[in-house]
Amino acid sequence: MDVLVLNCGSSSLKYQLIDMSSESVLAKGLCERIGIEGSNMKHSPAGKDDYKVETPMPTHKDAVKLVLEALVDPGHGVIANISDISACGHRVVHGGENFAQSVLISADVMKALEECSQLAPLHNPANIIGIEACQASLPNVPQVAVFDTSFHQTMPEKAFLYALPYEYYENHKIRKYGFHGTSHRYVSQEAAKLLGKPYDSLKLISCHLGNGASVCAIDGGKSVDTSMGLTPLEGLAMGTRCGDLDPAVLTFVMEKEGLTAQQVVDVFNKKSGVLGVSGVSSDFRDVEGAAAQGNARAKAALDLYYYRVAKYVGEYAAAMNGVDAVIFTAGLGENSKEARAAICGYLGYLGISVDTAKNDVRGKTADFATADSKVRALTIPTNEELVIARDTKELLDK
Ligand code: ADP
Repeated sequence: MDVLVLNCGSSSLKYQLIDMSSESVLAKGLCERIGIEGSNMKHSPAGKDDYKVETPMPTHKDAVKLVLEALVDPGHGVIANISDISACGHRVVHGGENFAQSVLISADVMKALEECSQLAPLHNPANIIGIEACQASLPNVPQVAVFDTSFHQTMPEKAFLYALPYEYYENHKIRKYGFHGTSHRYVSQEAAKLLGKPYDSLKLISCHLGNGASVCAIDGGKSVDTSMGLTPLEGLAMGTRCGDLDPAVLTFVMEKEGLTAQQVVDVFNKKSGVLGVSGVSSDFRDVEGAAAQGNARAKAALDLYYYRVAKYVGEYAAAMNGVDAVIFTAGLGENSKEARAAICGYLGYLGISVDTAKNDVRGKTADFATADSKVRALTIPTNEELVIARDTKELLDK
């Protein structure tokens, strides 16, 4: 069974075709600049050369058509026929309170997704367009939606409620939802395998440290708290997002800088975080490089970033009354031994002790705690596409 996994942004489409008999990636790729000048596609078939093309893609439908053509192309294709695709799995950012699990897409589901769009106006509309584009090109192929939020639907009320007038929750569903759920679910399940213990017996803290970043407390296999909120802006400092902030900063900046509320929220989302503090870049490689050369603001940005991750780990250890392992994943968590060491440097009181030699890994699964460390420290590469493909297969098998 081959599953096509799609992740649509407002002007991009990422895809992977996965053979579920071996869980191997047959091809993956990316369409960029959809609907704008310079649309292009990069298609990487397993075991063959990459194929790149610059061609107009006015809509996501055009992009999906191009992807399907690439998949069956006699040269750079990987399947003989489009009918080899058994199902499509779509990443959907926000499922609100409607979706605690992945679902087979129906007309009713589409209606519910539209309702969730007001909670994620930057993300969900693009996800919906992607689903519609696939339905148009592959009308008889089942489509599945997998949500960033659904893993966190197990959070108790005390974790997801904001201390605001309760009617805001009742009338507008304003609450913490959390994101990166597929990633936190995947790495925490992998952690249980690595530790050789039942998933439901463990207290785990997962740190997804990519461009966007979040921490999740997973108690007995269930998300019980997470750092992102109503939107992905809450929680950790990130590449360009500010994370936790005194809410009164909003009106203060509006007055001081003469900006509208939306303009300030844009600054919070796109010009803050590690980029805003360092003034160097949102990419940690650049910021680490600048800090190593003595750039004080770059160092301040990294110090602030690590400190906040460590504070969340402490908070979640308290929330669960203990922790068996802390997991690091995504771009920074998988690749930066400096970041892992700096964050774990705060966690000695929890009983975490880092083995420097074992921490010297990049992009591989490892337990990098010392043999006598009371709490394990793990780095585990995430694989959100595989989770989407597995959920899709599971729903189809049912
Ligand atoms: P996204 O949230 O876009 O999926 P990723 O998980 O790919 O992000 O993470 C991207 C970030 O990971 C980059 O911005 C970069 O800062 C960081 N990163 C990637 N490789 C390294 C590395 N070798 N050292 C430090 N940081 C890295």
